[in-house]
Amino acid sequence: MTDPILYTIAAPMPASHRFHVTLDIPRPATSGQRLALPSWIPGSYLVRDFARHVGRVSASDARGAVAVSKVDKSTWRCAPCAGPLRVQYDVFAWDLSVRGAHLDATHGFFNGSNVFLAVAGREGDPVDVMLVEPPVAGKAWRVATTLARGDAPQWGFGLYKASDYDELIDHPVEMGQFDLVDFDAAGVPHRVVLSGRHFCDGPRLAKDLALICEQQVSLFGELPQMDQYLFLTRVLGDGYGGLEHRSSTALMCRRGDLPGRDDKVSKEYRRFLGLASHEYFHLWNIKRIKPAAFTPYDLEQESYTQLLWVFEGITSYYDDLALVRSGVIDTPSYLELVSEIMARVLSVPGHRWQSLAESSFDAWTKFYKPNEDTPNSVVSYYAKGALVAMLLDLTIRERTVDRVSLDDVMRQMWTRYGKTGLGVPEDGFEVLCEAVTGLDLGPFFDRYIRSTDEPDLERALKSVGISLTCDITPAPDVALGLVLKKDTTEIATVYRDRAAELGGLAPGDVLVAIDALQVTSSNWPVLVAPYAPGDRATVHAFRGDELHAVEVTFEASPQRRWRLLADDDVTPAVAARRARWLQEEAPTA
Ligand code: ZN
Repeated sequence: MTDPILYTIAAPMPASHRFHVTLDIPRPATSGQRLALPSWIPGSYLVRDFARHVGRVSASDARGAVAVSKVDKSTWRCAPCAGPLRVQYDVFAWDLSVRGAHLDATHGFFNGSNVFLAVAGREGDPVDVMLVEPPVAGKAWRVATTLARGDAPQWGFGLYKASDYDELIDHPVEMGQFDLVDFDAAGVPHRVVLSGRHFCDGPRLAKDLALICEQQVSLFGELPQMDQYLFLTRVLGDGYGGLEHRSSTALMCRRGDLPGRDDKVSKEYRRFLGLASHEYFHLWNIKRIKPAAFTPYDLEQESYTQLLWVFEGITSYYDDLALVRSGVIDTPSYLELVSEIMARVLSVPGHRWQSLAESSFDAWTKFYKPNEDTPNSVVSYYAKGALVAMLLDLTIRERTVDRVSLDDVMRQMWTRYGKTGLGVPEDGFEVLCEAVTGLDLGPFFDRYIRSTDEPDLERALKSVGISLTCDITPAPDVALGLVLKKDTTEIATVYRDRAAELGGLAPGDVLVAIDALQVTSSNWPVLVAPYAPGDRATVHAFRGDELHAVEVTFEASPQRRWRLLADDDVTPAVAARRARWLQEEAPTA
């Protein structure tokens, strides 16, 4: 029986925003133990260098102090020691994001990748975690985490366990005062942990989330093995985000996103349900069905795959689909969500310049590191991935005459890769799609994954009795092809090959006047409204401290808006296909 490595997490002064970590290694490498913190966190493809928040690292053994030196940005090496080694360090926890660690006198939250130094060579060893209750005045704090409990009481401080380092860092921890919303799905207890001030109608949230979770369980046929599932939700005045884990998710939402005491599903609540649904779908798609490139994760450096669109795009397709399939929202509401995604993808030029395969591969330096040119050159593998997933699903349904669908492909992905732990090779999804459907989908993947073709959703939606119309409305505020930063006259974005760029304006330029009239943060739409396509104007703008005058020519600036409508007047066969897709009640003849 191996003695576990023990991490003790304390916060002697929560107001200092520092977790104090003590790491006891029973049998260290006596020739010099190396310790390292991950550089990135699975689910967020950016090198974040969590070690930058770690203060001085000290070590000691039975004889006294052991010298510690830094090897690289995230790695430390202890001098040779005799017997058990104790390592101590502080982690500054002032990043209120789902990827970070945050501590003050009201609550503590951390992801393991922020606080647990990995003991090199012992990553496969079992781990104990002692959570010490911080000294805070007032009501007692509780703990919410899906780490396995050792001697800690439920929701309490004390001993928790993980079977290895990989598991250790996949169970975020929330501590403080929080409310619990309970429900069961697939016979397993699920809880929403609400921290921060809120006015949530708990029973209603429980009812809706239960339907959504059950819908996803039925899609895959089973819930992966777990004792409980937690939605760790931080409620704020402003904020939004989520990060998936193997039996929990860390969410951040606005107070107004949570349901109040009326029956309407507001747009804000619908967005929150979509977020929760998204992270829950990841239980299968990315937490267990993983690209080979992440099997195992190399958390020291970037890992490249062209498949992020499969894991984020397909998940983004099913997150909203689960809302309508479970009956939590109705069909018009779902179609409105689809039209919003279409606008997000197709109104910006990037989708014509970067393929989904490229967007996936370059996530580390493009999608997660945007610059002024991002709208021109980058496509979201989430949003366009969702549209292409829908197109793929509808294409499969139509071409196989409803014999199979993307649901069947995802079930096979689960059986073949998720349940076996085998990584999905780079061509694995495409190969499996063809095997399950019996279709030649090479041309589809060439067009929509490896090139930048706009998804032909109009035809596909027609096959399920949904008409897609594209309204073209003039949009005076983009008549020069530029977007201003909110509440300023500074240019945020200049669209490729459009009037502002051709005239010589650039991101960062601060507009001063157009045809000698002063531009303010609020009057820009009014100032440009009188101009017609072909009109010329002189624009004055500061670039740095130098004033420039440029000539611009206004252009016709159509803005496309998409509307989706379920047709009433369709054949019974089409109505039946739509009902099967959205899992509506079967139409009566
Ligand atoms: Zn996701």
